[in-house]
Amino acid sequence: MNSENNILLDIRKLRVYYVMSTGSVKAVDDVDLTIKNNEVVALVGESGCGKSTLAYSILRILPYPGEIISGEIIFNGMDLTKMDEEELRKKIRWRNISMIFQGAMNSLNPVMKIKDQLMEAIIYHEDAIEDVDAAYLKAIELIRRVGLDPDRVLNSYPHELSGGMKQRVVIAMSLLLNPRLVIADEPTTALDVTTQANIIDLLKDIQREIGISILLITHDLPVVAEIADRVYVMYAGKIVEYADIYSIFKNPQHPYTEGLINSVPSLVEGKLRKLTIMKGEPPDLINPPKGCRFHPRCPYKMDICEKEEPPPVKLKEGHVANCWLHVKR
Ligand code: SF4
Repeated sequence: MNSENNILLDIRKLRVYYVMSTGSVKAVDDVDLTIKNNEVVALVGESGCGKSTLAYSILRILPYPGEIISGEIIFNGMDLTKMDEEELRKKIRWRNISMIFQGAMNSLNPVMKIKDQLMEAIIYHEDAIEDVDAAYLKAIELIRRVGLDPDRVLNSYPHELSGGMKQRVVIAMSLLLNPRLVIADEPTTALDVTTQANIIDLLKDIQREIGISILLITHDLPVVAEIADRVYVMYAGKIVEYADIYSIFKNPQHPYTEGLINSVPSLVEGKLRKLTIMKGEPPDLINPPKGCRFHPRCPYKMDICEKEEPPPVKLKEGHVANCWLHVKR
């Protein structure tokens, strides 16, 4: 850990491409992102903008043909891009960084009781737990921690549980080895609105009580508003803006962030704000647009936007937007 600024994860100039015979999909392109201890950071953007690729890169579980092309991922002083598989398994995955995968509740093994699935995960990392009895006690504690009754849940098969209960089990699994960072990829997708709110409350409680950091990956801005301390906005493989939660929602400074926020229903001074639908589609990441990648959809586009990539502009401490509108020329 960098004790001076309390940084737990520091991603620097990361490039991750899917290298194919038809060209490289530049899914993550020159991305910087930091997460402090005990912080909830949200990474938001439309589907296909590179959010999940960034998450898989942190755990080094990129699907083929994904490749880290350059950059560093510094976790607790270690560069994860330089570690081999053995080190990642022994030191990083699940022990220090765990992940709640998108749709994970639907990939619980249908023919195994929850108890056995939890124990299997614990025993897989057997050197992290003293013995099997200790592991079972840990499973009971975690199931209670996520608000479920161990007697009812541990002896059940997944189909005997509701969607919300299954998602709680998945969250319990992610906490099995006391990680310092949990990456939650769309943790509320496919749940009804009430269950979504309960799951977000649970994540908030756990984060506060255990003191973990969370990287929340989502396209769902109301979820972000509920739980995040800071937000990074990603568009077409690039971070286009980041700031504290209040600044992002009250004072977005990148036209894409503004478009995202305006496309979500919200009450402003007791009235429902008029919704605006963002025009156009995200670009092809094999041949992204020159200059600012958002320019084909941007209502404020200027000549320079089509020619040169906008630099990051610091608007105030902790608030940065990559947009030519903020560059004094
Ligand atoms: Fe729009 Fe230009 Fe800013 Fe890109 S750089 S968001 S095209 S104004």
